Amino acid sequence: MEYLKFEDMNLSREALKAISDMGFEEATPIQSQSISIIMSGRDVIGQSQTGTGKTAAFGIPLLEKLDQYDKRLQAAILCPTRELAIQISEEFRKLLKYRENIKVLPIYGGQPIDRQILALKKGAQVIIGTPGRVMDHMSRRTLKMEHVKFVVLDEADEMLDMGFREDIETILDKIPGERQTMLFSATMPKEILDLTERYQKNPAHVMVIHKELTVPSIDQVYFEVKEKVKLDALCRLIDMENPGLSLVFCNTKKLVDELVEQMQGRGYFAEGLHGDLKQSQRDLVMKKFRNRTLEILVATDVAARGIDVDDIDIVFNYDLPQDEEYYIHRIGRTGRAGKSGRAFTFVVGKEIYKLREIMKLTKAKIFRRKLPSLGDIEEVKTRVFVDKIKEIIDEGHLIKYVNIVESMITEDYSALDIAAALMKHNLYDADAEEIDFEAEPVPRYENRFGKPGRKYQEDDERGMTRLFINIGKKEKVKPNDIVGALAGETGIPGRAIGHIDIFEEFTFVDVPREYTKDIIIGMKNKKIKGKKINIERAKQR
Ligand code: ADP
Ligand code: MG
Repeated sequence: MEYLKFEDMNLSREALKAISDMGFEEATPIQSQSISIIMSGRDVIGQSQTGTGKTAAFGIPLLEKLDQYDKRLQAAILCPTRELAIQISEEFRKLLKYRENIKVLPIYGGQPIDRQILALKKGAQVIIGTPGRVMDHMSRRTLKMEHVKFVVLDEADEMLDMGFREDIETILDKIPGERQTMLFSATMPKEILDLTERYQKNPAHVMVIHKELTVPSIDQVYFEVKEKVKLDALCRLIDMENPGLSLVFCNTKKLVDELVEQMQGRGYFAEGLHGDLKQSQRDLVMKKFRNRTLEILVATDVAARGIDVDDIDIVFNYDLPQDEEYYIHRIGRTGRAGKSGRAFTFVVGKEIYKLREIMKLTKAKIFRRKLPSLGDIEEVKTRVFVDKIKEIIDEGHLIKYVNIVESMITEDYSALDIAAALMKHNLYDADAEEIDFEAEPVPRYENRFGKPGRKYQEDDERGMTRLFINIGKKEKVKPNDIVGALAGETGIPGRAIGHIDIFEEFTFVDVPREYTKDIIIGMKNKKIKGKKINIERAKQR
């Protein structure tokens, strides 16, 4: 039951086509469990960690249930931040690729309200918004909830942490009782269960339980890279490590095809394996991989499940996997049959949080490493080449070549120069260029509520730094605005942000000390409530 195929879920042809275009091969566990329940009309409480596909878990069935002939507002999705509202509406639009007449509109604080009012006037059947702004529109009557039949609370825990509880209750109280209510959250504290009790009817609990997973003894490292240098990073690591067989994981079929093409273009023996290939094609690829005429296999998680090759040297997570179970499955492909294996994972930007979650749940030690420089590669290539030369000398049978060298020496070239020129000819790579792999810094965050980092307690009792922001009651700033802006701009989960004091002309906010610098840099020149802000460490009182 863990992983279902979308084809087995009674979805429309249009939906299946759109899902396939998005490159999803099969449903993630939370999707496998939620979609049919939501399709059946029942309320749902869904719990699974971030990055496990919750958006599509409610998005796919919800969009299927909309009536395209009804132009009124039918569905309201509430989420904590502007970024998330935009992200969800983008995913919805992809899911709606083959359906016309369904309008989706994100509405969030920070965008001029007049523009939103105009957009709302044109009509939308689905809105995705932050609670504060949605309430604002409701009280202006620019958003009418009378005909809403579907409500989703996404990232409910985050919304409560950000102080949206009252807003959410006000909104839910105004939506007719004849509705389907879905709530998704990574955690289920008591306040959320209170909400579900008050606002849901006989909800089905869908939980993706994270098993204790043990990782075999595999050397695991990760590299923080920029998205656009991933390909270079992969090539460089392969050049450096010279693996016999490597398996490269991508999250979608499309990415597999793209990567294979790029690697082949650079002269690597790479081929792809995914669900769109015919069985005969797959067999052929696997045969080549097994007898080592193919060295680099690029695959999706689904396709890789059937791989029965024992001596894979390196597993690459070109894309960070959806959840920790995938991670375990993937790296379990190496280090088999008593051999030592290695797993290399690429992490882009905020994915570092997901990786930390994987580390926590799997208790895996994944160490950060820097990508090898051009000099490192040269060194390795030189060593390999020199060893090879020594081997050839030891083997003998060189008389034919000794004659060539002798004839060159009679032309006044020295043996030393001749040898050096041969080295250069073999080792010099005119195309080699230094690449800037260094990713932009992402603020690190430890959840001081879930598991207080020891570091904080040693520093002082809270480990928070007080920041000063030059807006306040005068600008009608509310705690939500501050949390939303800080979380949205810097990627720090809202619940990491501490106490907020709003005064007439300025605001104090406590943030975890070690991220202070990242926040100050990340918020530079940003706006809150339309005003360009100035943020700095608060002075001692
Ligand atoms: P969550 O809400 O649980 O944090 P998201 O819905 O944001 O997770 O999904 C995380 C990523 O996984 C997105 O990039 C999404 O497009 C992708 N994704 C979702 N479902 C699938 C699937 N079935 N197969 C492959 N990728 C998926
Ligand atoms: Mg989500």
